[in-house]
Amino acid sequence: MLLGSAARYSRLRSTYIEISNYFRYRPATLRTGLRCNVAPVRSFQALSCLREQPHIQPSHRPFLEEYKKAVEFPPATHDFETFFNQAAPDQEVVLHGYLGNRADLSKKLSFARLTDPTMTQNIQLISFAKNDAFQKLKSVNANSPVAVRGKVQSKKGSGPDTPKNECWELFVEDIHPLNDFPKDIIMTPETVFPPEQRYLQLRSDGELRDALRFRAQVHSICKDGLEKCQPPFVEVETPLLFKSTPEGAREFLVPTRRPGMAYALPQSPQQYKQLLMASGIPRYFQFARCFRDEDLRADRQPEFTQLDLEMSFATGEDVMRIMEEVIRKLWSSLMKESAPSGPFKRLSYQDAMSRYGSDKPDTRFGMEISRLDYLLPVDLISKITPLTESFVDVFKMEGNDNDPEATTKFITEFLDSPAGAPFNNNPDGAPGIFVYNAKKPLCGLQPFGFEAAEHLEDILELDHGDLIVIQARPKAPFTGGSTAIGDLRRALQTAAVSSGFKPAPTGFDFLWITDFPLFSPSSETEPGQGGTAGIQSTHHPFTAPKTAGDVDALLTDPTQAIADHYDLVVNGVELGGGSRRIHDAAVQEFILRDILQMPAERLADFDHLLSALRAGCPPHAGIALGFDRLVVVMLGKESVRDVIAFPKSGKGEDPMVKAPSLMSSEALDMYRLRLRE
Ligand code: ASP
Repeated sequence: MLLGSAARYSRLRSTYIEISNYFRYRPATLRTGLRCNVAPVRSFQALSCLREQPHIQPSHRPFLEEYKKAVEFPPATHDFETFFNQAAPDQEVVLHGYLGNRADLSKKLSFARLTDPTMTQNIQLISFAKNDAFQKLKSVNANSPVAVRGKVQSKKGSGPDTPKNECWELFVEDIHPLNDFPKDIIMTPETVFPPEQRYLQLRSDGELRDALRFRAQVHSICKDGLEKCQPPFVEVETPLLFKSTPEGAREFLVPTRRPGMAYALPQSPQQYKQLLMASGIPRYFQFARCFRDEDLRADRQPEFTQLDLEMSFATGEDVMRIMEEVIRKLWSSLMKESAPSGPFKRLSYQDAMSRYGSDKPDTRFGMEISRLDYLLPVDLISKITPLTESFVDVFKMEGNDNDPEATTKFITEFLDSPAGAPFNNNPDGAPGIFVYNAKKPLCGLQPFGFEAAEHLEDILELDHGDLIVIQARPKAPFTGGSTAIGDLRRALQTAAVSSGFKPAPTGFDFLWITDFPLFSPSSETEPGQGGTAGIQSTHHPFTAPKTAGDVDALLTDPTQAIADHYDLVVNGVELGGGSRRIHDAAVQEFILRDILQMPAERLADFDHLLSALRAGCPPHAGIALGFDRLVVVMLGKESVRDVIAFPKSGKGEDPMVKAPSLMSSEALDMYRLRLRE
């Protein structure tokens, strides 16, 4: 059976991938021999062999002849935008672009569209069989880059009201193919290219390219805004080859040829920007590349960009004010609706966790959480949790059209779906779910008992068809980013919107979350600062205690100390965070050595910072916004991959260039590394 060209292409491709993977994943030692056979084709030695063999002189190869034609191609007389503004009938022009599909109207007449290099504009080409260009046009595949020389003509029927870019067409006088777009790559509006062909994903998807253009605008508006502040922020690049310091995240190491010596890629420019504050640069910013070898939770990239800034002689209040101005400028320049004109709302970590069960709540859709255990019958509590000491929280989700059946259907489908599974399997107990139904005894709230049911009706202002969710949690202070009921609140809202049970909330809800605990219990999954005290810095170890009372708490109970740390949240997304820093060397050393109990050799990793603080460093504060995430929020996209030109996959790999790749035995030798069996 003859294979269609797409199938043939895909079979050839997978064979190629298999072969290339075969070579790639062979152990480095085995590969050495094979590479010797392959590599010389590209080496200078091999080229000199070619010179000695006249039958394979480069000039005898047809592709080199083709290439020579493309080397010297006519320069464009106009870009499309300028052309549309200046075009005049009978004008001779040369335009560059991609050829579209050709329509042959007769043996003597063909049409094709020429799309400009930005792929945002196009013009109709007309070709008659009266010159060579007619045959040349026919020999060029659609999507190939070309230079077209032609004569301008005004389009029939166009008038003063016709948009400028639809007034003109071009009679082709010559066409200069610049490269071929092969027939075996099928590119239609429906084609979905795999991540291995990211360049074709980008080329075939105008939305992706628009997102990159939008990203560039966001970049320049932020830069412009910061540089116009008084005094201005100064853009400073800080090194990417940094050293390993236990700041909080797992790092990527870069081995060097000096035995046992490695750089670390910065998890953020945090220490360098504080060093700048000690260097007499009072206001710094940078679009900083950051690297974190994290377990890739949803939509995280191992390398990402931050809009990072720091200010000296400043407090957190100054930083929040500057950031609000940047956001307002961005929203007024690029968005349909504006950001709040006054200071953004603020919510303490405690309030965010107790009212929304999240330290990055979306407060647009209500469903506020409150404590309920004080009015619950003991037997109900024991039914919903195995915990002996617990708090119980509740929230209400408004029903749809006063229809309890619709609510029951929605919640049943949710709990039976994969999204519901983690909540059913919660070791602290599954949620208790009730649908308020005025037609049922005690409105469907019998397990609460008469008194509690009445209270509940009052507190939650229940209506026919409302959903009531209760959930137990351990009787302990909040830690971490969310509670089970907070996660459930969020998941139910997402499911309700995607199933059409509820409309999607609109608008942008900016929020500062403040007053985080300065320290949290050490995490099993995050490296923290490597101290032995059983606690780690919630933000990073350079964050200052908020008040004089919080400084005192360092001596009595550090877990009670509140941090001068602020996170900027919008619509349930943490855009970034920052803090006022400890600018006093003795206090910084005390936190690292006595509170976190870092071993001496880890403490020594921070010598540079302690010395700089000791050298009269002024008070300072700063923030970093996740730049990829900021663009995602502004564009309403699903994933940071939609706003990054060459993103990594969920496994942290670049499937196009195939990174990371196995180290060759030569590289291992060079860095004096040995792989453990
Ligand atoms: N360096 C911090 C981070 O990456 C941000 C800051 O505190 O300015 O989260």
